[in-house]
Amino acid sequence: MKNFLVVLFTVFTIFYCHSQILKQKIPDKLVVLTFDDAPASQYSVVAPMLKEYGFGATFFVCEFPPNYKDSTLYMNWRQIKALDNMGFEVANHTRTHANVSKLTQTEFNAELEYIENKCDSLGIAKPQNFAYPGYGLNALTLEFLQKKEYTFARAGGSRAYDPLVDHPYLIPSWATDAENKKEIMSSLDQAKNGKIVVLTLHGVPDIEHPWVNTPPALFREYLQYLSDHNYKVISLRQLQAYIDADEAKGIISPDLKKKLSN
Ligand SMILES: [Zn+2]
Repeated sequence: MKNFLVVLFTVFTIFYCHSQILKQKIPDKLVVLTFDDAPASQYSVVAPMLKEYGFGATFFVCEFPPNYKDSTLYMNWRQIKALDNMGFEVANHTRTHANVSKLTQTEFNAELEYIENKCDSLGIAKPQNFAYPGYGLNALTLEFLQKKEYTFARAGGSRAYDPLVDHPYLIPSWATDAENKKEIMSSLDQAKNGKIVVLTLHGVPDIEHPWVNTPPALFREYLQYLSDHNYKVISLRQLQAYIDADEAKGIISPDLKKKLSN
């Protein structure tokens, strides 16, 4: 009898917690596209192609040193504003692409607030989500994000996001490059049974950081595949329709031992 009650209680707890984290069932074939570092090709190549397919996406912007001012390499703020106007999400990747695991709270806030203030001055929706530059993070970083009331933060890890297991500040993703088409294609199969596939992309192409280059033809292949196979492709912000991040933060403790970089 006692065992029965323990089992019943456990089942109830699991069910109750899950129903609170999820606002609605995660559909199969749900993919989140995220683009980091604000290279110029995200405006000239990525945004028009996404529009062609009717896909959503998140752009984690920063002023990447030392060449941010070179508009042949990086988007300017007018172009970032245009992404916002097109309905894409503009989110925070710090001002200087800082390794935030090495920053004090004051320094971290200054990095975040520079981007927030830029957005505010241009009428861009307030950034709610964050991506760790270079996947640098620690337990303190998570506390700082919480104090700043960020909703989600994207890491690496090359596995699918399970909103019932992964803390909202440790959302795993796969990163694309010119060589890993096979891995990315097989990752898409994992968008099922309550799990979401989050992809991290950089420039399409990426001139300054060729190790994270995604050739435009390969990018089109991915979009065509997602479209042909009826995937739903959204921004990180749009995950709030499915996931109550505050509930999840109250229930799931962050597991920093898992692989969190790509
Ligand atoms: Zn980055």
